[in-house]
Amino acid sequence: MKITLLPGDGIGVEIVDAAVEVLDAAAKKYNFTVEYDKKLIGGAAIDACGTPLPEETLASAKASDAVLLGAVGGPKWDNVDPAIRPEKGLLNIRKGLGLYCNLRPMTVSKFTAHLSPLKTERAEGADLLIVRELTGGIYFGTHNEAHLNADGVEEASDIEMYTRPEVERIARFAFEAARKRSGKVTSVDKANVLGSSRMWRKIVTEMRDKEYPDVELNHFYVDNCAMQLVLNPKQFDVVLTNNIFGDILSDEASTIAGSIGLLPSASLGDGAGMYEPIHGSAPDIAGQGIANPLATILSVAMMLRYSLNQDAAADAVERAVDEVLEAGYRTPDLWAEGLKKVSTAEMGRLVAEAVK
Ligand code: NAD
Repeated sequence: MKITLLPGDGIGVEIVDAAVEVLDAAAKKYNFTVEYDKKLIGGAAIDACGTPLPEETLASAKASDAVLLGAVGGPKWDNVDPAIRPEKGLLNIRKGLGLYCNLRPMTVSKFTAHLSPLKTERAEGADLLIVRELTGGIYFGTHNEAHLNADGVEEASDIEMYTRPEVERIARFAFEAARKRSGKVTSVDKANVLGSSRMWRKIVTEMRDKEYPDVELNHFYVDNCAMQLVLNPKQFDVVLTNNIFGDILSDEASTIAGSIGLLPSASLGDGAGMYEPIHGSAPDIAGQGIANPLATILSVAMMLRYSLNQDAAADAVERAVDEVLEAGYRTPDLWAEGLKKVSTAEMGRLVAEAVK
């Protein structure tokens, strides 16, 4: 397997190192070989090459089985030309790889439920997967910037547009994922108001009836879904959304987990998938060896499952993370009296040992 490593900026470098140790342990245990190609992205790439996504980075990613990304950005690059900001590197690599499907799992285990802003009994045991369409909808529709209309009034607009194939391919992903989980899809829309949502709902319902009759499907308006997520997150299994609703709901869902350092993500297309923690480059703690690498390690588990076809290894990595937490080891962001405080590298080593 060929993996492109993009540590990026800030804590990206430390957490990717820890995750690679875990991936190496999984490869050894489950008998496959991994070859790495480390490349620049974000601020580090701006410093070295004057662009946040050098051509050779994209070429390496395209030629690999999967990409593991740390994070990009930091105060050093806050004032660079917007056309070459570190985040542009991220948007451009997603575009370059055609990543149309974003997966964000959110689980609340008994070890972390007390960190949730929700009551512990409400949060503990929540286990959902948000499947978000990533390359269509209003973010990619026609943008009419602010201008004066014929009546001399300033106006602006953005177009929400989806085609049937775009809806079908993301819905198919959600149905397939539900079959591997507890068999339930909640599709989110605003069909009471939007034509694009009415088409979305029609297509998703047709697909369930024709191709996935074994999967339970319900539809929530996005405003109700936002409420239900905090009232009863345990009612959800797979949540299927368009681009903009998924952007908002996935951030809302992530707060329920209580820590940003625990949540992985995957972005998939027809070629190499990209795996990254949901947090940023945390410049405030970069270089101190105290960042939590578990979100990146859990992103490796997703990579094993979705790109490398190593389901057993993926399960083993997730189990190893649970074991290490159960044994009481925590990086400082999760640490409390009575627990064992460890560094980023030590956490990586402990999980790697547990995998072995
Ligand atoms: P952030 O996620 O980097 O940090 C928010 C807070 O969470 C900070 O206090 C940080 O120390 C803490 N934190 C984050 N990850 C942690 C971890 N693994 N372990 C322990 N603590 C952790 O968000 P921010 O401060 O808003 O952004 C910092 C930089 O990251 C900005 O330049 C931003 O543009 C960039 N960013 C990048 C991505 C990405 O690469 N995907 C995502 C979000 C933000």
